[in-house]
Amino acid sequence: MNLSKSRYCRGLQCKKMLWLEKNMPEVMTEPNNDSIMEQGNAVHEVARYLFGEHINIEYTDNLNEMVKDTYRTIESYKNVVITEASFNYDNNFCSVDILKKNGDKYEIYEVKSSTELKDVYINDASYQYYVLTSLGFNVTKCSIVIINRGYERMGSIDLNKLFLKFDITSDVIDLQTKVKETVKEINEYMDSETEPIEDLDRKCFKPYDCLFFNYCSRNLGHPNVFDLAAKPGVKCLKFYKEGYRTFKDLLKADLNNNQRQRVEFELYDKPDHIDKEKIKEFLDTLSYPLYYLDFETYQMPIPLYDRVKPYEQVPFQYSLHYQEQDDGEVKHKEFLAEAGTDPRRKLAERLVSDIPEDVCTLAYNKSFEQTRIKRLAEIYPDLHDHLMNIHDNIKDLEDPFSKKYYYTKAMGSSSSIKYVLPALFPDDPELDYHNLELIHNGGEAMNSFRAMENMTKEELEYTRERLLKYCCLDTYAMVKILSKLKEKVK
Ligand code: SF4
Repeated sequence: MNLSKSRYCRGLQCKKMLWLEKNMPEVMTEPNNDSIMEQGNAVHEVARYLFGEHINIEYTDNLNEMVKDTYRTIESYKNVVITEASFNYDNNFCSVDILKKNGDKYEIYEVKSSTELKDVYINDASYQYYVLTSLGFNVTKCSIVIINRGYERMGSIDLNKLFLKFDITSDVIDLQTKVKETVKEINEYMDSETEPIEDLDRKCFKPYDCLFFNYCSRNLGHPNVFDLAAKPGVKCLKFYKEGYRTFKDLLKADLNNNQRQRVEFELYDKPDHIDKEKIKEFLDTLSYPLYYLDFETYQMPIPLYDRVKPYEQVPFQYSLHYQEQDDGEVKHKEFLAEAGTDPRRKLAERLVSDIPEDVCTLAYNKSFEQTRIKRLAEIYPDLHDHLMNIHDNIKDLEDPFSKKYYYTKAMGSSSSIKYVLPALFPDDPELDYHNLELIHNGGEAMNSFRAMENMTKEELEYTRERLLKYCCLDTYAMVKILSKLKEKVK
């Protein structure tokens, strides 16, 4: 197993991660990062043109071939930009995203699809510097290239504005002694025959969630301290480090109210907590006609259309249930953009025609819908006032659950609709997202919408139908949750 730049970074996070990868890959949790990988690849494809003409070293499983190709290219040109330039020093391999050769001087550019400069990226570049300088290359500059979150597309993409470059040469040089030691340590550690012992710590979650966490925490059983949050993480680590393991142990810990509620409900099977007064107060803030709104959005690192920023959530679909009066008939409207088009203008026009001014709109986690509407209002001044009127009149159906006016054991540590709905309607197949075909969550909706551009007519119709069903369930679920709240305070 060659060390590579990503393996080096994983080894820095925790050497056991690499050992398990090599010796027990079957215990790794399946990564759920297809769309992240796809986005990362898209960023790299575009970043290759950052310095104009370049020669790309084609990826192949045969790393030696990539290294040979790189040397051939280096020898053929005095000045050249090479992407995926590959090197191997003493079985330590690396591909440099962009390598600039100017005579006998070399510059390394490490491209990241992130909008933040993180310390971990410096490690990545330091490893590359180590490999290249050990091979005798005169590396004069190391830079990290990230995406400029503030860039807004107008016309064709301006690569010099889309990307930000940070010179980290001096940090990289400062780290060289440590890199050399770490490479040696990792390579020795990897040779260990027996499974190394490593205690759970911050490294299990930072800088990245470790895919071996379920395996390494298997002896804790469930529920354990890490079940205190919807997703295991550093927040729960504090209790683990204080010696707490089970929920029973946690009864003695310094928990906040929500954590204590979670632990006690789980341990004592407590009846549902319903604060009728608070729920009534919430219900009194609503008025009819009442609209239930939910958007689906996609995000791309490279903006597809004018007036889109990197990773901006672009709404392409909404579902809208509505009732003219309390307990009145529930009606439905919806919008789904044509694939391959900028969805925003049509969506915004339909939204203002579907939701009148000065009515109450409900969303679940309203800041998401409000942020999308505010952005549409910014882009389309002619629709600004109506859109902002909708924005200002949105109420949040998550409030009674996030503020714990209503809590049941089945809600666990989350007030998201994906937890609250099955907790309130455990046996209703009509409200079960698992019973939907193809699309069961926002991520799948986003991927399906993007994939529609390359579908046959039949596939397109099938996918549109599934998208409409999925989004419709989101707002229908809100209708049902509201009626459940009303029923509980009667
Ligand atoms: S879960 Fe933690 S201890 Fe286990 S391999 Fe991952 S980082 Fe290391």
